[in-house]
Amino acid sequence: RKLGYAIIGLGYYGLGVIIPQFRNCAHSRLAAVVSGDPAKAKRVAAEHGLPARSVYSYADFDRIRDNPDVDIVYVCLPNAMHAEYTIRAAKAGKHVLCEKPMAVSVAECEAMIAACKTANRKLMIGYRCHFEPYNLEAMRLARTGAAGKIRYVRSEHGFVQRSPDAWRLKRALAGGGSLMDMGVYSLQAARYMTGEEPVAVTARESTDRRDPRFTEVEDMIDWTLEFPSGALGGCQSMYSANQNRILLMGDKGRIELEPATRYNGNRMWVGEDGREKAITPPRASARNQFVGQLDHMARCAATGHEPIVSGEEGLRDMRIVEAIYRSAREGRTIRLDGRA
Ligand code: NAD
Repeated sequence: RKLGYAIIGLGYYGLGVIIPQFRNCAHSRLAAVVSGDPAKAKRVAAEHGLPARSVYSYADFDRIRDNPDVDIVYVCLPNAMHAEYTIRAAKAGKHVLCEKPMAVSVAECEAMIAACKTANRKLMIGYRCHFEPYNLEAMRLARTGAAGKIRYVRSEHGFVQRSPDAWRLKRALAGGGSLMDMGVYSLQAARYMTGEEPVAVTARESTDRRDPRFTEVEDMIDWTLEFPSGALGGCQSMYSANQNRILLMGDKGRIELEPATRYNGNRMWVGEDGREKAITPPRASARNQFVGQLDHMARCAATGHEPIVSGEEGLRDMRIVEAIYRSAREGRTIRLDGRA
């Protein structure tokens, strides 16, 4: 049988991007919606043939415990609400797929992992690029030496955040600025493209604090990761320009993606500097990262396998995020490997 998802947060991503994907899924279906807007929830439920008992508000969300149609709760809320709703979902006996960033602190990530472990439920983070054909092919090429020994990875992600009222610019809801949003892609890419865990990070922030958008959180942040092989990861995120790029430099050539992590339209080149060839990954058009992600979680929930992007993976990123902020604040390199 297809496993049932409850989508919590009917905003841009939950409603606009995720819900339309269920029609292409082999193992997943929409089973419930959770929203603070009763009229919207009712409309979406009607459009998807959900019974009235599968429509929840934030206040009565815990009743989801009694709904056997729901196997997995997908948290598509502002970042600072991820921990609360992940923990409530686990306590209601449901598996959880939680959007990135996993939460707004290491302590929250640890509490989420503990809650899912206690409830014996799976926890996965919405790191969709692990299901995206171009990123998968770039990882494969990097691992099989298409660019030689990887010495440097550059990863830049950003978009122009226009509205000063957006929750993404409020510390209490977002937990931080561009790093908590697009920065997660830059950080993730540096880790999954090299296949290494950073041992140290050095960061710098640049924000015009007179700009009304940036009274609470950072605009641009730039950080360098040091990997055990000696490779460096130059990463960056910002809310004042559109950018979406990953570059891997090896001693035999380069692998370049631009755009790199979009929903669609990604492109890739591989080869020596100046003589790169465009590459289309096998089955690029047949595979959809959203469907891949939803069905992977459903299979993990059904079989007991651990998701490839588990809560631990989200926690690893959050430890680095906290170190990036600390490095920028204190103006020094922060070790991530426990060495002085
Ligand atoms: P959004 O603002 O469009 O939607 C957020 C939803 O949460 C809305 O339905 C809103 O009503 C609800 N909500 C409940 N309480 C709220 C409160 N106090 N303040 C504001 N909204 C509240 O945001 P979004 O773009 O859908 O992002 C939601 C989550 O999804 C974020 O964690 C974001 O990082 C993540 N996201 C991931 C991707 C991806 O590609 N993986 C893309 C977009 C967003």
